[in-house]
Amino acid sequence: MIGDPIIPLNLVMLGPPGAGKGTQAERFAQKHAVPKISTGDILREAVTSDTALGRAAKMVMDAGRLVGDEIMEGIVRERLARADAKAGFVLDGFPRTVPQAVALDDMIGTKPLVVVDIVVPEETLVRRLASRRMCEVCGHSALPEERGCSKCGGALVVRIDDGAGIVLERLRIYTEQTAPIVQFYRGRPNFRAIDGTKAPEDVQAAICEAVTAVAGGMA
Ligand SMILES: [Zn+2]
Repeated sequence: MIGDPIIPLNLVMLGPPGAGKGTQAERFAQKHAVPKISTGDILREAVTSDTALGRAAKMVMDAGRLVGDEIMEGIVRERLARADAKAGFVLDGFPRTVPQAVALDDMIGTKPLVVVDIVVPEETLVRRLASRRMCEVCGHSALPEERGCSKCGGALVVRIDDGAGIVLERLRIYTEQTAPIVQFYRGRPNFRAIDGTKAPEDVQAAICEAVTAVAGGMA
């Protein structure tokens, strides 16, 4: 059964920028009452709460470098050890490298891990990303159906950082980084590639189905 506390719903979400991964992670977390753990959030939190790992991360970032595997793994390990993650979690932004994926296996042990890869063709991603609009007053990211900003009524403009060249570069970096991780997980029975070109509700249903299949298989 989904939500059965005996079978934790441990989910890793992979997918390029523009695939709707953040939204799907959020929806899954809400529906199944498990925390959505995004590496950006927990990194900021570790720095703010001044933990040993947070201080180490801050030193690296202050020097203008990217936080490496060892610190990231430590921060994720501490977060997953908290009580609210015992019944499951959704990871967004981790693992980013194969060593991080290996470390995650070690953190989880024998508990099931479902990995979904939200797949969207490059042309669709470029179209989606290049047409994303934000409010020029408050910076709110607008949904396609919004005519004016739903937060403050301000005018919506195309996001300046999302020009086609920059979009392609972000996608190239993502693919380069992530291809080895997809390769790492692909052969596992709990790996699912999900068609991200469908409507958000259909993508959500496909993710739930993947998780239910695993939970059902474990019962
Ligand atoms: Zn606004």
